[in-house]
Amino acid sequence: MITAYFDADGIFDAATDHRFSPPPAEQTGWDDWHPITVPGAFPGYWSRELVDAVNRIASLPGVTCKWLTSWEEQAPLQLAPAIGLNAAGWEVIYGVEEDDPMNWHWWKLAKIHEDLEKDRPEGFIWLDDDITSDPAARHWLRTIDRPHLAICPKTTDGLTKTHLYDIEAFIGKQVWACSSVGRASDF
Ligand SMILES: [Mg+2]
Repeated sequence: MITAYFDADGIFDAATDHRFSPPPAEQTGWDDWHPITVPGAFPGYWSRELVDAVNRIASLPGVTCKWLTSWEEQAPLQLAPAIGLNAAGWEVIYGVEEDDPMNWHWWKLAKIHEDLEKDRPEGFIWLDDDITSDPAARHWLRTIDRPHLAICPKTTDGLTKTHLYDIEAFIGKQVWACSSVGRASDF
C-alpha cells in the first residue's frame, strides 16, 4: 500500500502569480487550462489533463490518497467537484490550526509523521509546493528510510507532466515490483 498526501494550491491549481494567465505548456506539459471558479480561492488555473491523470492514479489498487491541505474539508467539498477530481472519498487530515511557523512547527510535517505511524504504508508520496521551504521537512526527507517520493512543484505551475511520470514510475515500482527508493537527493 502506498499513501499519497495531496496539497491543493500549487498542486491542482497553478497560481497565476497575478499575471492572470495560465502557465505555458513548455513548463508544465499541459495546455488545457481553465480558471478556478471556487469562491474565495486564490486566482489560478487548473488542467483537465492533469486531473484526469490523478484520477487514474488514485483509482489504482494499492494507492490511498489523502488530503493534506489547509483547505481541509473544503478540498473534497468544493475544489474536487469544481475541477472534476474524484476525491470526495479521500480522507482529510486536519490540523491547520496547529500551525506555528514562528516556532518552526509546520503542521503538515507533524501530521504526515502521525499518519505514517498510524497506517504504516510500504511507501508514500507527498505532494506540496511548500516542502522545500521547510528545513525540517527537507532534513526528514533526506534521512527517512521508508520508500517515498516527495514532489514540490513551483506554485505558479502546479503538478507538471514530468511529475506525473515520476509518480507513475514510483507507484509502478511499489505496487508491482515492490522496490523503490525515495528521491532524497532532490531535498
Ligand atoms: Mg500549496
